[in-house]
Amino acid sequence: MSLDYRGRIAPSPTGYMHLGHARTFWTAYERALERRGTLVFRNEDLDARRCRPQYARAMFEDLAWYGIRWQEGPDVGGPFAPYAQSQRREFYLEAWRRLLAGGWIYPCSCSRRELAETASAPHDDHDEPVYPGTCRGKTLEAAAPGGVNWRFRVPDGERIAFVDGALGAQSFVAGEDFGDFVVWRREDVPAYQLAVVVDDAAMRITEVVRGADLLRSTARQILLQRALGLSTPEYFHCALLCDERGERLAKRHDALGLRTLREQGKTPEDVRIMARRGK
Ligand code: GLU
Repeated sequence: MSLDYRGRIAPSPTGYMHLGHARTFWTAYERALERRGTLVFRNEDLDARRCRPQYARAMFEDLAWYGIRWQEGPDVGGPFAPYAQSQRREFYLEAWRRLLAGGWIYPCSCSRRELAETASAPHDDHDEPVYPGTCRGKTLEAAAPGGVNWRFRVPDGERIAFVDGALGAQSFVAGEDFGDFVVWRREDVPAYQLAVVVDDAAMRITEVVRGADLLRSTARQILLQRALGLSTPEYFHCALLCDERGERLAKRHDALGLRTLREQGKTPEDVRIMARRGK
């Protein structure tokens, strides 16, 4: 086993896995396998409103049925356990404290409605609109997050560039392509951007393989890594699968769900061929 390559698959148990997940995670699995590295399975179950235990069980079962093997994860353990984000709050809290002490984040009390009224149009990749900066000047002496959204102040006008292993040179301009983003939600839940950066570093991930819908988030995550003094892993973003109408697959696309295909009698190999063909 290579000491240096560490990849990960990081699904959220908010629905059943579909062909698109299978294809991306298979790429992550193969890249780790080819490099004789380690694949980590991380359960991204922070959003209690949307995550369900039955989806978590299904996600382990369906990906194992598909043929993906991982060496570390919630079910098998490993040196950087726990591997379920709902059990890693203390790590995120520590990062929140460091961001606060460093002056990187500020409390934002804008309501969802205010945001909808003032924000510019969202980008075409379903990303959130650029935050207009209403609360940028605010400060709050807080010993703990929660009660307000905490936003990361992005360096307006700075171009964040990286070379993606699959898609080549990428760059996004802070304040234009994405704005100040939430790192901790008012419901007292760490936001995806913070959790993923903390975990990728803590689990010593060397290459992040994931869907191209997160390309713009990589620029945000690079800024967080910089603020927290963490190194930046390699990135490899996979093209997303679309349905016959050209819409990207979502968890509601039951017909292309791994469960459904398996119940129809398809073998993992049949499904891998479908995923390769793109339908
Ligand atoms: N948990 C995220 C999702 O299911 C993926 C996070 C990542 O790979 O960085 O969309």
